[in-house]
Amino acid sequence: MFNEAIKLTSGENVPVEMHKVRIVQKLNLLPIEERLKAMEGAGFNTFLLQNRDVFMDMLTDSGTNAMSDQQLAAMMVADDAYAGSESFNRLAEAIEEVFNKKLFLPVHQGRAAEHIISQVFVQKDGVVPMNFHFTTTKAHIEYAGGTVLEVFNDDALEIKSKKPFKGNIDIDKLKAAIRQHGKENIPYIRLEAGTNLIGGQPFSIENMREVRKVADENGLMIVLDVSLVGENVYFIKMREPEFKDKSVKEILHTMCDLADILYLSSRKFGCARGGGIATNNRELFLKMRDLIPLFEGFLTYGGMSVREIEAMAVGLREGLDWDMIKHSPEFIRYLVDSLDAQGIPVITPAGGLGCHLDATGFLPHLNSLDYPAGALGAALYIVSGARGMERGTISMDRDANGNDVPSEVELLRLAFPRRVFTLSQVKYVEDRIKWLWENRNLVGGLRFVEEPKVLRFFLGRLEATSDWPQKLMAKFRADFGDSL
Ligand SMILES: *Cc1c(COP(=O)(O)O)cnc(C)c1O
Repeated sequence: MFNEAIKLTSGENVPVEMHKVRIVQKLNLLPIEERLKAMEGAGFNTFLLQNRDVFMDMLTDSGTNAMSDQQLAAMMVADDAYAGSESFNRLAEAIEEVFNKKLFLPVHQGRAAEHIISQVFVQKDGVVPMNFHFTTTKAHIEYAGGTVLEVFNDDALEIKSKKPFKGNIDIDKLKAAIRQHGKENIPYIRLEAGTNLIGGQPFSIENMREVRKVADENGLMIVLDVSLVGENVYFIKMREPEFKDKSVKEILHTMCDLADILYLSSRKFGCARGGGIATNNRELFLKMRDLIPLFEGFLTYGGMSVREIEAMAVGLREGLDWDMIKHSPEFIRYLVDSLDAQGIPVITPAGGLGCHLDATGFLPHLNSLDYPAGALGAALYIVSGARGMERGTISMDRDANGNDVPSEVELLRLAFPRRVFTLSQVKYVEDRIKWLWENRNLVGGLRFVEEPKVLRFFLGRLEATSDWPQKLMAKFRADFGDSL
């Protein structure tokens, strides 16, 4: 069920938008011939497309969420001051109300918080156990001389699953890691809400309480990444019986009270552009505080503009609204369940970040060196104008010997920026994915023509290994006539 409060006479159950659109941006849907040209011009890499050529931008949810009227209004009354700005005070109050943490350090975005935390706490050869890494998290821990140790449950990577909390930490693995590495070599345990790279999957409060117990037994602290916390709270309320009648705020406080330090990117939670670190522990706060003026800016802006600070304060408070946080996971579930019901390979259960198509199952005739997730992303753009993000072998850089490193999973992520798309647009994408599934044998592989050594997925250029894009276009024209 999507919306128990709204019943339709048809009996159909749809996630009804609980907001209206008051500022709009015109979209372009180019004819398929021009989409193919745009894809070739972008080197078959969706990062290199121009936004004007994109119909549905499902690349990421970072900094692309819709802002509310209240956020825009707050930006107009921002208090511009280098030091002691009222805007900062309003943000610190919002942080306390939302996360129940009294001490707050502003930073310009999520990875800047990771930079500060890693520089202060991660020693050389330190090991940080966590449910799952995020790209920037891992990079900052390694930059500080440490390593990341993932202690997720074995079933977290299963594509087809009914597991409600794939983001949980495996407690036995955590204990073993502490025994093996020694608690003195572990600066902290990290938990990521709505684990990004495994499909926006949540952890449970029950699991977090067990992690807290292990942390206390070993004198370790917990650092909680709340960048995607809204959706994690949504899943806790829906799936963890103890919290079914609790408010978003009660769930959020229960979670945050179990952590020593939390940090976030409010490009995601908060629908603004900024970030921060919060704690109730003065000693920890003081250890981090002095790095803020060095790397970010004075303590009352931390690299953010006062307008963004105001938008973040309002956006975080709006994150306590059930209608707000349920919108995105319900739209995602609508698409994931529809595709799954038609036998189209997609990660289940639906997570909180986007719909993840399993390119290995979608294009079984390709092998990982044909870059199936990249090929699927290019094909979907050509047939629909929607762009997703490759999360497969292209996203892995080559090893020291110059060999490709096949990824464990080949995914095409279709992100859902919060409150941006309407249901008819989602249905349009569903329809085009279905058509592509029926014509999947026409999709061939890709190969690099220009390949950066580091993070090649951002700027690398590829080409089709045959004339499959032209054949795909011809079939589209044969089936759809002159449709866009
Ligand atoms: C996006 C993200 C970050 C990094 O935040 P930026 O604002 O992009 O620097 C860190 N952790 C998680 C879970 C994220 O999703």
